Amino acid sequence: MTVQIDAPVVDTELFIGGSARPAALGRTRVILDPATEEPLAEVAWGSAQDLDQAVAAAHAAFESGPWPELTLKERARLLLRIADAIDEHAEELAVVESRNVGKPIAFTRGFDVPAAAEIFRYYGGLVETIEGAARQAGRQSLIYTRREPLGVVGAITPFNFPLNLIVNKLAPALAAGNTVVHKPADETPLSALLLARVLAEAGLPAGVYNVVTGDGPNVGARLAEHPDVRKLAFTGSSATGKRLAATAAGTLKRVTAELGGKGANIVFADADLDAAAQIAFQAGFFNTGQFCMSGSRLLVQRPVYQETVDRLAGILAHIPVGDPGDPGTVLGPLANRAQLEKVEQYVAIAKAEGAVLRHGGGPVPGLDRGYFHAPTLFTEVAPQMRIAREEVFGPVVTVTPFDTDEEAVAIANSTAYGLAAGLHTADVRRAHRVAARLQAGIVWINTWAMFENTTAIGGYKDSGYGRELGPEGLEEYLQTKTVVLNAE
Ligand code: NAD
Repeated sequence: MTVQIDAPVVDTELFIGGSARPAALGRTRVILDPATEEPLAEVAWGSAQDLDQAVAAAHAAFESGPWPELTLKERARLLLRIADAIDEHAEELAVVESRNVGKPIAFTRGFDVPAAAEIFRYYGGLVETIEGAARQAGRQSLIYTRREPLGVVGAITPFNFPLNLIVNKLAPALAAGNTVVHKPADETPLSALLLARVLAEAGLPAGVYNVVTGDGPNVGARLAEHPDVRKLAFTGSSATGKRLAATAAGTLKRVTAELGGKGANIVFADADLDAAAQIAFQAGFFNTGQFCMSGSRLLVQRPVYQETVDRLAGILAHIPVGDPGDPGTVLGPLANRAQLEKVEQYVAIAKAEGAVLRHGGGPVPGLDRGYFHAPTLFTEVAPQMRIAREEVFGPVVTVTPFDTDEEAVAIANSTAYGLAAGLHTADVRRAHRVAARLQAGIVWINTWAMFENTTAIGGYKDSGYGRELGPEGLEEYLQTKTVVLNAE
């Protein structure tokens, strides 16, 4: 079964053991285009039965065949070849990701797809840094360590960055020598299905990367509980992450959990306000706010509060919202109807709580199809309001005034989350002091969402544990064996 999305053709069957196949129970699911609400593709809809077959294929590929025989050098070369193959298929991947998620094509071309290739290149470079150590003991013994892969890794990903969030797991998992079974998000599985074919074409042996589309409670839960899966790499909401960590504990598999966020973006009175307002826009509205690391809480020191709000509202008034396929579009639709309804509910909650609606708050004039919502700005938001504490995951930013550094830090740290935070100031001592006190896995100073492959990301508190990217991201997929030889 294949489907044509503009130019690219995506095979919509499951990808198990190196080949495409329909779901065991013969089920399919229609995927909608979030910009038009029209059917975009009909994908095979897997079940626990398909998942078991995929784990068996991944297990076989880990134990025998060409994959475990590759030297580090050969594995490194293969990852670099995969990066090149992603570049060669860049336009197809960019179009598929844009149509499936509703992401502006300028972003999938400029960020999502190039970043995916670069992450494979980065981990391709790290493969040959994997090394054990020799340990000294008595004169007649030899002790050394080997860094070994874990086995079959289960990956479960959310709907907002489908390509990047699997590549963040797949590249280090493969670099370490594991095999992978992936359950993509229910509504946005198309780029993973295409990626599996691209990797096979680049020479990845059969069974090393398997994709089973399907729902969370059946297919995802089976992956978390499967006894032959040695690690679960999960990205998604904190509620699902907690449930899955409990399930995974039944087989003592390792878990990394990249979960939700409610990032505080702090503007001090001495900041460059032009830059801060522009960055506040990007922090809050990138990917239509469907960004775990979004700066959805803007905290502004009172002397520059009104001016910052005015500048940000001025930017929102001129942002092109609309067709994700138009290279000039900056804000696309929400990725699915449930997400749009969630945003609408939170807008109603904010109004009922007494927050002041400064911009947006409803549909986009002229866009009567698709899951569009106007970029929305609430001011006079008190830290204890639900709109300031709970993750909306949409184009909604709240603004809260503060007076002192201490107050800013206290408000920033007052939610259950701890994924990302940021601050804007011209005072380098204040920057370091405040950064050290923010409870977040990453703190950006005078910028936001500046990512490097070398730089680990991950959560504090309810935003999860484990790290992706950087050398730390590779560590998550390795275990240590100690070998002791008595040479007497
Ligand atoms: P979600 O938790 O609803 O779903 C994520 C994945 O888990 C999907 O594939 C889903 O099918 C699966 N799932 C759902 N219920 C399951 C169950 N009972 N058992 C097994 N699998 C199950 O999240 P979402 O709505 O797709 O994504 C949005 C969330 O993801 C937000 O909270 C966002 O902050 C978070 N996120 C975090 C990061 C990060 O790096 N920390 C990145 C992106 C998104």
